[in-house]
Amino acid sequence: MNLDESPHPTRHRITKSLLIAATGLFITAAALAVVKPPEAPLPAYVALQTLELSPIHARSADITPAPFIAETRIRRGDTMAAVLQRLKVDDPGLQPFLVQNKDARSIYKLYPGRVVQAALDDRGALVWLRYKHTPGTQDSDGFVSKWLEVRPDGSGDFTATEHRTPAEVEVRIAEGNITSSLFGAADSADIPDAITIEMVDILSSKIDFVKDLRQGDKFRVVYDAYTHEGREVGTGKIRALEFLNRGQTYSAVWYAPDNDQGAYYDFAGNSLKGAFLRNAIKFTRITSRFGLRKHPIHKQWRGHNGVDYAAPSGTPIRATADGTVEFIGRQNGYGNVIILRNYGNYSTLYAHQSRFAAGLRRGAKVEQGQIIGYVGSTGWATGPHLHYEFRIAKKPVDPLAVDLPVTRPLEPAQRKAFQSVVAQYQTHIDFLARIQDTKQDLAQR
Ligand SMILES: [Zn+2]
Repeated sequence: MNLDESPHPTRHRITKSLLIAATGLFITAAALAVVKPPEAPLPAYVALQTLELSPIHARSADITPAPFIAETRIRRGDTMAAVLQRLKVDDPGLQPFLVQNKDARSIYKLYPGRVVQAALDDRGALVWLRYKHTPGTQDSDGFVSKWLEVRPDGSGDFTATEHRTPAEVEVRIAEGNITSSLFGAADSADIPDAITIEMVDILSSKIDFVKDLRQGDKFRVVYDAYTHEGREVGTGKIRALEFLNRGQTYSAVWYAPDNDQGAYYDFAGNSLKGAFLRNAIKFTRITSRFGLRKHPIHKQWRGHNGVDYAAPSGTPIRATADGTVEFIGRQNGYGNVIILRNYGNYSTLYAHQSRFAAGLRRGAKVEQGQIIGYVGSTGWATGPHLHYEFRIAKKPVDPLAVDLPVTRPLEPAQRKAFQSVVAQYQTHIDFLARIQDTKQDLAQR
């Protein structure tokens, strides 16, 4: 899909800001004096600042008479009187209106950190008061910011109106280098946690993020961020991703054929929704600490028939594939154990659980990724861990050694459109790589 041809209005906004940002990039490139400008004009880049005026400032009513705008942030324990005083609003009728009028009820609660603005004319009279009570929230219209505006009505009283402004969408590109943990790398690249978790989810049929991460792994990610007046208020979707893990590169791109329901594919067009996840431990900030251990647990594969994942007691365990509960209960060495019958002759086993997910019974259907229980040390276990077995025709096999079944690739008819989407993101990612290499070259001189 070409962004310029998209009928969606926010997309137009993106395109416009991307071009502005691309111009900024060339300036960066010139300043470095080493980077060659790319062959084709760049459609996107990092941390874009849109130059469009927000609707708040663009309204002509606010421009004449030129108001003085004061802004303050609500502090813990603030009162309405204190807020109005800091804003230099001196209108005896305003405070009673704000605490009594139903239309102004969103200001009854003063959330610490939220912004209140007041515009005064050159005689010091109130033009408007605005309370940005919900700077960013997801609702049926997408990501919006909600705010209250109070204005004098000209006869000594006031009117209060709720407004909503769509959040701006910025396309961001970030790069992380893994030295101690994935979250550590994401933190140093200012990548929000929601994006880190999404990266893991997207590639979880390819990479075992609990066991496989190594020092020296790196990634590049292109994602949407929602901003309101320059401040980030939420994250959107990952558009593209490249992950170098143990010398092998995995890629992902979001692709929605004909505006249909979208999915992630690798750059070659294969669906990333594998039939099996690479591990059953939900990857979080806490479990990620176990991921870079050299030897997650003592036992050898031979004579053990499973893979052990050390994790704190109570860590959620998820089904690695769709399936049906074949066994749920206690068995001698396994302790609390669940066996799922998955596709064909595949089954999976999850042992030593502290407890099972509420209401789960024999015969129940579970979906891939669904939480089925929690890590514990029941049965023959020296400490809390998940013992996971992958079985083909009831015979345990090493899940890290077999090629797990995957879903079908894209239809040939969709390939051309898909390749143009991939090419677009590859341009971004390659350019980021060049900038980074240049920085390293300069640093080594
Ligand atoms: Zn084990």
